[in-house]
Amino acid sequence: MLKISADKLNSLFDAVSAKQSLYIPVDRESGSAEYRKYKSGMEMSKCLNTVRSAKDFFFPQTENLADFKMNGKNIEVIDVREECEDFVIFGVRACDARSFTILDKVFLAEPVDSYYKNRREHGTVVTMACTRPAETCFCTAFDIDPTSPEGDVAVFSDGESYFFKPNNDKGQAFIDSIADMLEDGDTAELAQVQSNTRKIMQMLPLANLSTDSFGGEKLMEHFNSEKWANLSESCIGCGTCTFVCPTCQCYDIRDFDTGNGIKRFRCWDSCMYSDFTKMAHGNPRNTQLERFRQRFMHKLVYFPANNNGEFGCVGCGRCLAKCPVSMNIVKVMKALEEK
Ligand code: SF4
Ligand code: SF4
Repeated sequence: MLKISADKLNSLFDAVSAKQSLYIPVDRESGSAEYRKYKSGMEMSKCLNTVRSAKDFFFPQTENLADFKMNGKNIEVIDVREECEDFVIFGVRACDARSFTILDKVFLAEPVDSYYKNRREHGTVVTMACTRPAETCFCTAFDIDPTSPEGDVAVFSDGESYFFKPNNDKGQAFIDSIADMLEDGDTAELAQVQSNTRKIMQMLPLANLSTDSFGGEKLMEHFNSEKWANLSESCIGCGTCTFVCPTCQCYDIRDFDTGNGIKRFRCWDSCMYSDFTKMAHGNPRNTQLERFRQRFMHKLVYFPANNNGEFGCVGCGRCLAKCPVSMNIVKVMKALEEK
């Protein structure tokens, strides 16, 4: 496998960013990490994961969909779409890489979302194998291997060097573009690093979390469960869990009058919000219980029902870390599977 020594990683970033935009996870003053556009000298974060997921690159929190110009009774529709420039996201973890597969099933199914497709086609995802998983991680429950992530290119570290493995043609093209900076590497140490990480995964608190009690066939059993009342009681409907979640994909579309025309934009929405399903005739989900149930039923029952058993969660653990009242999908799974 081709590799680069760790002390030359920034030279590699300089070379990549000279050709296209490069985004890497960097530390914020608070100690947490976020993706930023690389500038020479920026250090890559050693945090396990960013607070907000990498989905922003393909499905941004807000985006302009179209503009309208009014002239008397005439309305001119202005297509604001432009071909996206090529870009690279470096250091995506295995959970977030799998979230793109889930988002693809939503946005690339007919009718194809051209805004998302444009970014997907121009973005190269370079993943980073995990070596220090956190207590909130449970990606293995969804058959994700954090030691061998998906994405276009998978990168592995043995502490001394970074090794590059292509997962597809786009990944091979990326490696070809930096091949003059790479050298042949001995991967003997990597197997040991992977084995150590798998041992850590087995000792984590959520190592034995099972999805056996969930899936499309459990629809009526879980929908009618009396446990939703207790589970949803503490939820304050803040939507934090949906905003940090790499697989949540709901959005709202609104028009904004700039005084010089109309901008139609979309922005992330949350099924946890009281007006999420509000329509002209009223709201079919009037209680927080119904809204709370919807979020978890979607990930654990409805999504697999419509996607050959694939769950709508990747076990990234963000909702475990960020919910202000400590409610999360793991608590829901454990409560629902109890007879
Ligand atoms: S539901 Fe929670 S653990 Fe699952 S993908 Fe979303 S934020 Fe991550
Ligand atoms: S589950 Fe937690 S993070 Fe999600 S809306 Fe309720 S209170 Fe907010």
